[in-house]
Amino acid sequence: MTDVINPATGEVFTTVPSLDLAATDAAIETAQRAFPAWRAVAPGDRARLLRRFAAVVDQHLEELAELEVRNAGHTIGNARWEAGNVRDVLDYYAGAPERLSGRQIPVAGGLDVTFHEPLGVVGIIVPWNFPMPIAGWGFAPALAAGNTVVLKPAELTPLTAIRLGELALAAELPEGVFTIVPGKGSVVGQRFVTHPAVRKVCFTGSTEVGKSIMAGAADQVKRVTLELGGKSANIVFADADLERAAASAPGSVFDNAGQDCCARSRLLVQESVYDKFLALLEPAVRAFRVTDPAQADAEMGPLISAAHKKTVTSYVEGSDVAFRGSAPESGGWWFPPTVLLAHSTEDRHWREEVFGPVLSVLPFKDEEDAVRLANDTEYGLSGSLWTRDLGRALRVSRAVETGALSVNSHSSVRYWTPFGGMKQSGLGRELGPDALLSFTDVKNVFLAMGD
Ligand code: NAD
Repeated sequence: MTDVINPATGEVFTTVPSLDLAATDAAIETAQRAFPAWRAVAPGDRARLLRRFAAVVDQHLEELAELEVRNAGHTIGNARWEAGNVRDVLDYYAGAPERLSGRQIPVAGGLDVTFHEPLGVVGIIVPWNFPMPIAGWGFAPALAAGNTVVLKPAELTPLTAIRLGELALAAELPEGVFTIVPGKGSVVGQRFVTHPAVRKVCFTGSTEVGKSIMAGAADQVKRVTLELGGKSANIVFADADLERAAASAPGSVFDNAGQDCCARSRLLVQESVYDKFLALLEPAVRAFRVTDPAQADAEMGPLISAAHKKTVTSYVEGSDVAFRGSAPESGGWWFPPTVLLAHSTEDRHWREEVFGPVLSVLPFKDEEDAVRLANDTEYGLSGSLWTRDLGRALRVSRAVETGALSVNSHSSVRYWTPFGGMKQSGLGRELGPDALLSFTDVKNVFLAMGD
């Protein structure tokens, strides 16, 4: 059994089973047995089951959100959005089974058609920072394409995934089609990589573990989707609406206590407006409301664990702190929003993913310098740029090497647009119209006309 802790109080409030190798194998083999019948469900019926699953999630939105506040310290506002995102992603991919069309290709002597065949059992490995959305981004398209799914939640945040597994059964998805397998990464997650019945692993987590999964998957030429770390840049040009850019910068990095792969944790400000921009940023950072995440007006809750707080603290110690916000001081793993001045691109807090409410700031000279600095990282997940010059917005958007960018805003995620990383931030794309096909293989069939 694993203790489940409320990060806002530091107290254990329940326990969940941690499955061993034999139980993991049993879950995978149940999913394997469920596959032939699930892929054979008529497209319209599979669509209906997924729409019903979405409706059941919708009926339990508040319960799921409250569970996430307790288990992950997410603010109630964020947690409601996250549960709603699971519903929306299910609804979106519920439209897929009847539209999963192949092609008819002209050939002599017969008919050539392609099919998008499901892969079999898909293993989904989820991190602790966004337990609900990241689970849904994997299981909804995987199920819609006709695969069965085994899903491993993170050790620290298993509760909403376990509840979603129950809700799937309540929506009458057949037994074995969607199974939650709580346990350790080194046991359950690793078994998804080595068990031959699992035909694809969808992994979201650290770049380090992602690389080991990709290496392990090579042995069986297993398909992978990897959503890994980030160190995204927020680039503010002198001609931008500086007030808007400064007002929105704290949310772009401190949301979810900075435990967000898309966090704009590197702030690049054009040197001619550097001092002015920091003067606008300071009150916005100080005003960022860090409090009990169950309160309706909370903008940020605690960090996920004591160990993680220690790691985040190590980036701030000995660094040049520009200014900080405030946070509760007792009970739970609180950390104030913190802005650090970078003096070199070699500063550890500038280079590494902190995964906490820490923003590093550096000035740049001109457009070329901004692009060079933004791309000076092995990561490439997200990012923003602020300018009123349309030409510059287009040039810089094309030049910055990341999978998702926003201009004069910080949005990264819409369930109907693609999401994923370039460089070492990942491989493949989730969400949007294309993700579905990554849960299928193309089969080409030629039917001879005969004489
Ligand atoms: P992590 O890599 O430690 O763990 C992620 C998951 O992998 C957990 O479920 C864990 O149990 C499992 N795991 C650990 N070792 C494993 C192994 N050897 N084999 C198989 N599974 C294993 O990451 P984390 O600390 O939970 O999450 C934080 C990281 O996730 C950050 O780097 C963040 O940027 C990244 N992330 C990326 C995205 C994205 O979409 N690109 C989204 C969210 C988080």
